[in-house]
Amino acid sequence: MKILFASSEVSPFAKTGGLADVAGSLPKALRKKGHDVRIIMPLYQCVETDGYTIKKSRKGFEVPIDGVMQKGLLRQTTLGDIPVYLVEKKEYFQRPNLYGTPAGDYPDNSQRFGFFCQGVVDLLKRLDFRPDIIHCHDWQTALIPYLIKHEHKDDPFFAKTALVYTIHNLAYQGIFEQKALAALGLDNSHFTVDRLEYYGKINLMKGGILTADAVNTVSSTYCQEIQTNEMGCGLEGVLQQRAHDLYGILNGIDYQDWNPATDPEIFKNYTASALSGKAANKKNLQKALELEQSPDTPLLGMITRLSAQKGLDLLESLLPKLQQEKLHLVILGTGDEKYMKMLSDFQKKPSHAISINLAFDQTLSRRIYAASDMFLMPSHYEPCGLGQLIAFRYGAVPVVRKTGGLADTVFDIREGVREPNGFTFDDYTPESFWEAITRALDTYKERKKWDKMVRSGMNSDFSWDHSGGEYEALYEKALKKVRV
Ligand code: ADP
Repeated sequence: MKILFASSEVSPFAKTGGLADVAGSLPKALRKKGHDVRIIMPLYQCVETDGYTIKKSRKGFEVPIDGVMQKGLLRQTTLGDIPVYLVEKKEYFQRPNLYGTPAGDYPDNSQRFGFFCQGVVDLLKRLDFRPDIIHCHDWQTALIPYLIKHEHKDDPFFAKTALVYTIHNLAYQGIFEQKALAALGLDNSHFTVDRLEYYGKINLMKGGILTADAVNTVSSTYCQEIQTNEMGCGLEGVLQQRAHDLYGILNGIDYQDWNPATDPEIFKNYTASALSGKAANKKNLQKALELEQSPDTPLLGMITRLSAQKGLDLLESLLPKLQQEKLHLVILGTGDEKYMKMLSDFQKKPSHAISINLAFDQTLSRRIYAASDMFLMPSHYEPCGLGQLIAFRYGAVPVVRKTGGLADTVFDIREGVREPNGFTFDDYTPESFWEAITRALDTYKERKKWDKMVRSGMNSDFSWDHSGGEYEALYEKALKKVRV
């Protein structure tokens, strides 16, 4: 199959969260299965400053943004042997961040991603690459299926192309005022309830869900959850309408990239059968972060976007208690102003137990995964969660709230499973979170039992080997719909 991935972030070029990991690793897994995969993304400032080889091309395009034709250019790099097309428009993408600052989103995001999506549709005809599948992700690329199915519905070029749309996080829908239609190259005829209109505004994710040939999200539990009133974020009706074409496919991670046996960024490489290297990572991290170097003190890691979704209010309630315990807590995160402030205020108090690192730092993240005994994810909701999968791989035992993809991957002894691999709690309360943490701390003291759990996580397989095949099957289903 010829497959085009359109994504607003792709690891290693640009990343704010799990979408980048998926858009950087699933294409590789599909390439390995023999497909012709290509990627298209915006050319952000960070892609240029990080020193990737970027080829120029003569291809350009012009699309209407707010009634004015705006020019863009196409450039290219590679991810292994996968071509990566980069859409260049300096005034939109040459910025320090991808979507906004801690104070909020960039005010022209409808123009920025309206430009990107219109550009992708326009460029496809000039690329000499007619995809069988265009695979779009989240609100930033939802306009692509929408444009192709409405504005290009009689265009023979797209007649045999199937559109697949993946929801990585239903909470971010791309909601704008009606006037943003002009930034998307659309007129007011699209402002109806069966198209983009949504409670007096426009909603791009709704457009993607309604028009794609197949829609999926990133775990089976989240797929069920988003069809309910409690967790549907206002789109449950639209999702129920597409229930026959809606699937849940668990994310994988790139087992070559995330590999403690070869990871060049960590202090010492190690495997499940030689865990002493993990102890060396703990010692070095304790030293680097000025924590006491003690091998028996449990080290709890938390690496996260600082947003309400991630259970930071639960963490906030427990910080004073955690500080009293014999443990080390290492937090790495960046995001909303509110939580940045909460953590930086806490950081001002001297602490020998808690290390707070307010940054986006991929090297430090790897060192924390490698050093941690436990990994905390008290999420309010979690579409899939990659943190716990990376934690398994690096031998850190997850302590998580049982929701979405966390419920599909972390199994607690209290559930009667044969091989427990973590600790879970149900109620979104500090008390339940604390109860799970204390059970983990107690189990940590039983060395044999603990090491068995560590190995169980390390030996499990959450690579793309399995889920890559599920995406192939999803693509086949989508193709059947356009090639009847
Ligand atoms: P989400 O996509 O909702 O942010 P996931 O668990 O799916 O959450 O994926 C998060 C990814 O981003 C993981 O690869 C995690 O290691 C990484 N990450 C999150 N915050 C940071 C940070 N501050 N520094 C480095 N990596 C981070």
